[in-house]
Amino acid sequence: MENKNLSRKEFLSITGKTAAVSAAASLPLSALTTTDLFGQNAGKTTSPPASVPQAQDEPIVLEKWKSDVDQQSGPTPTPMPPGGRIRYAVVGLGHLALEEILPALSTCKKSRLTALVSGSPQKMQKVAAQYGIKPENCYSYQTYDQLKNNQEVDVIYIVLPNALHKEYVIRGARAGKHILCEKPMATSSKECEDMIAACRSANVKLMIAYRIQYEPHNRKLRELIKTQTFGIPKFIEASNAQSSANPAHWRFKKALAGGGALPDIGLYCLNTNRFILGEEPIEVFAYQYSTPGNPLFKEVEELISWQMRFPSGVIASCASDYNVHESRRYRVLCDKGWLNMDKAYAYKGQKLTTARAEGMMEKQEEISLAEKNQFALEIDHFSDCILHNKEPFTPGEEGLQDHILMEAIYQSAKEGKPVKINGQGKPPQRGPEPKLD
Ligand code: NDP
Repeated sequence: MENKNLSRKEFLSITGKTAAVSAAASLPLSALTTTDLFGQNAGKTTSPPASVPQAQDEPIVLEKWKSDVDQQSGPTPTPMPPGGRIRYAVVGLGHLALEEILPALSTCKKSRLTALVSGSPQKMQKVAAQYGIKPENCYSYQTYDQLKNNQEVDVIYIVLPNALHKEYVIRGARAGKHILCEKPMATSSKECEDMIAACRSANVKLMIAYRIQYEPHNRKLRELIKTQTFGIPKFIEASNAQSSANPAHWRFKKALAGGGALPDIGLYCLNTNRFILGEEPIEVFAYQYSTPGNPLFKEVEELISWQMRFPSGVIASCASDYNVHESRRYRVLCDKGWLNMDKAYAYKGQKLTTARAEGMMEKQEEISLAEKNQFALEIDHFSDCILHNKEPFTPGEEGLQDHILMEAIYQSAKEGKPVKINGQGKPPQRGPEPKLD
């Protein structure tokens, strides 16, 4: 019997079994045979072999059908049931919170958004409706301390201008909540020390949101350096630069930002160099410049360029600029090749390339890993630390170390000479390596 003249309605009225219908109905009618129509192939609507581990964090492994010629898809996700996830209050609904953090929280596996804090009731009402946040879980800066009584919040995530981090971290810790704080941690090393002490005395965890340390391409590059796949690293050039407008924005007010290009974006060069090398600078030397008369740079620097010397002999040459077209990259020169990261500090699109000699050739390769949301990885790492009582991989001490170095960089630029760093290049203590799945 030919079927192609049957309407879909006729087809459905002939077939009796739901399972057969649901499978066959997704096929074009011309692809169906008589046996399909009478449900005789219903037995083919059946689950292929799959491994289904009992443990919540073990992925379901589905039957493979792609050959190894293609890049394989990652393991299936292992989200926790929503009721078991760590619950977050996000403080400050600006660019980063609305554009990156709230969407990332929706894709997290161990974390979820349960509360908001904002100075704008109108904005917060709209955001609360978008993300299903109860009105009673919405706070102002005045009612912030009442989070203490909210049993639906485990973590407070501070996404405010830099100079407000200290106050809201300390108040949040006193409310008995764990704290995730945006970078830069504060506006001085002294503030960082106070924040660490407050979290310690309140017995809550403190993590600084250094997303690059959770981003797969940057982590891969770090592994290639550690295993000396391209030999011994000797020199790094790194820059993070972008353009700016609107002198009224807090980023151009020293009292709110703490500095200009350095703490905002130059910090990525500083922190990522320390991360990929696994050692600490022992000396820095810097220059800075701001175009005279440009209202953006009346209070904060436009351009900062600095060198860092590491105990192993590596020298890193870094630059950050607030007044050029966007560029975010670094290159590690090793004695047997180089590793290059374009879009290194961007929210996505990292491009890792490597080069080494092979006989008469120079072999250049691109290492492309599955794109993952680095904000979600970072947030889930903190949730994992809370669930399993571990120290975060990027604790407050990591933020403090960057502030000590930034203070030395400014001092060097001011004095026009190198500044030695106390601490003998010893890395700050951090928690175990994150398990990023
Ligand atoms: P925005 O200016 O876009 O947002 C800051 C928000 O803070 C405002 O929208 C406002 O929220 C609240 N706020 C409270 N008091 C003030 C004040 N006096 N002036 C201005 N805003 C105030 O900043 P971003 O979101 O870009 O940055 C926030 C933090 O996140 C900074 O510490 C920054 O360094 C960091 N950041 C980190 C990035 C990363 O990749 N990890 C990237 C970008 C920023 P409301 O109206 O709800 O009260």
